[in-house]
Amino acid sequence: MNKNLQGILKRIVGSENALLTPEEILVYESDGVSLIKGKPEAVLLPGSIEEIVKIVKLANLYNIPFTARGAGTGLSGGCTVQSGWVISTARLNKIIEIDLVNRTARVQPGVVNLALSETLKPHGYFFAPDPSSQSACTLGGNFAENSGGPHCLKYGMTLPHILGASVILPDGEFLQLGGKISGNTGCDLLGLMVGSEGTLGIAVEFVVRLTPIPEVVRTFLAVFSSIGIASKVVSEITASGIVPAALEILDKLTLSVVEEFVHAGYPADAGAVLLIELDGNEVQIEEEAELVKTICQENGVITLQEARDEEYRKKLWLGRKSAFGAFGRVSHDFFVMDGVVPPSRLSEIMNKIQEIGKKHQVQIANVFHAGDGNLHPNILFDAREKEMVKRVLLAGEEILMECVALGGAVSGEHGIGSEKQNLMPLMFAEEDLEAMRKIHDFFNPRNLCNPGKIFPNQKTCGEVPSGRYLSAASWI
Ligand SMILES: Cc1cc2nc3c(=O)[nH]c(=O)nc-3n(C[C@H](O)[C@H](O)[C@H](O)COP(=O)(O)OP(=O)(O)OC[C@H]3O[C@@H](n4cnc5c(N)ncnc54)[C@H](O)[C@@H]3O)c2cc1C
Repeated sequence: MNKNLQGILKRIVGSENALLTPEEILVYESDGVSLIKGKPEAVLLPGSIEEIVKIVKLANLYNIPFTARGAGTGLSGGCTVQSGWVISTARLNKIIEIDLVNRTARVQPGVVNLALSETLKPHGYFFAPDPSSQSACTLGGNFAENSGGPHCLKYGMTLPHILGASVILPDGEFLQLGGKISGNTGCDLLGLMVGSEGTLGIAVEFVVRLTPIPEVVRTFLAVFSSIGIASKVVSEITASGIVPAALEILDKLTLSVVEEFVHAGYPADAGAVLLIELDGNEVQIEEEAELVKTICQENGVITLQEARDEEYRKKLWLGRKSAFGAFGRVSHDFFVMDGVVPPSRLSEIMNKIQEIGKKHQVQIANVFHAGDGNLHPNILFDAREKEMVKRVLLAGEEILMECVALGGAVSGEHGIGSEKQNLMPLMFAEEDLEAMRKIHDFFNPRNLCNPGKIFPNQKTCGEVPSGRYLSAASWI
């Protein structure tokens, strides 16, 4: 980038907030998918909406791509860029207003998910979407990915919790959507923005819905001899009409790794465990707990233990939420897949995943939002071994193809980003993709805002030949 442009950027955000040297930029080369790397020309940390508008208008003037970045915990290469500017929301991290009468909060996009819930706690509320990365990820990332989390089984993903958003459009214009009420007037542009992976603009403020902290929370740890049985129990619990707050499965390999890391009291040698959380009022939860116990017993549960105090409950959740981090202790690298199947097909997909792991000789650890059928097979590998990387990518691709074949989708919550775009034709015909492209091009006609994401690199005719993952240039 020429010195003149560097100077203008420094004047807009302040010298210390314009990262321009390779050393400063290095940590922004990827998100949580370390296999996909890129090199922005600058990373900018604006401190106000006005500064973002100036940056976006300047980018338009010089035809430079730009991409918003929250905490960079994304798991689909969404904020990884091959060129242009990264606009970090790290400094826009204020909770502007908590409005208890209207049960809303106005927040900036860089607010960390857990920080919002911690702030709301003394008022008796929380922000319901709780990605397992919640101690780091931001509201902006949650909005852009329509993120989920363990408790989204009952409370829904991010979308129903966003009532309003202010967005800087790709040409620098300001768009205000929604507000403190859930309205139904005209086209749902807010719904369109949520989950659009930062390709339709940069969100600079939200009005979010506050959810009351439930009166009673009961958490159970059910131990089973196999993941197949645990999966069957999930289907039976959902079929019984109960909507648990969370239903999470950890398989044998995950248990051994997690227990050594957090010492939460998970049985390190069990086939699988099911973490079941119920919340609501006392009477309702008592009835639901009895039904859950019966279903577990009928399926030969080895032990069924209830977390009797808050400390133990927190430990169990710490184990679940630290699982990805724990894999880092036993494997040089790991590739987190994110497919989804109807919950009734969980046992089948688990068998398929096992077969695929054997076929490609890779270790796969499963820890996932079972109640939603949202899988996270984690393929453990060593990125220094190129031949192994190829096997990992082929295995990952086959898992997602199986998800689609079972009536599921290639992403449950992590988005498409630059990771899964070439798998989109598995789910959509060319005409469907074209319709999506038209919406994209209406908001982002010059394709400067987070280019190269979501859509396949080339037009396709509905086929996804094996090796699509391998064809993603920068991966290997
Ligand atoms: C350990 C771990 C556990 C995880 N668990 C879950 C989980 O349970 N559920 C789940 O859904 N995800 C999970 N994730 C994935 C990730 O944390 C979520 O996608 C999260 O919402 C990303 O937030 P972020 O702030 O890190 O966004 P980033 O990674 O920085 O960006 C993600 C996308 O959002 C866009 N973006 C960011 N800010 C804005 C903005 N202000 N305006 C417009 N676009 C923006 C970026 O351009 C990019 O496309 C997990 C990740 C990790 C590492």
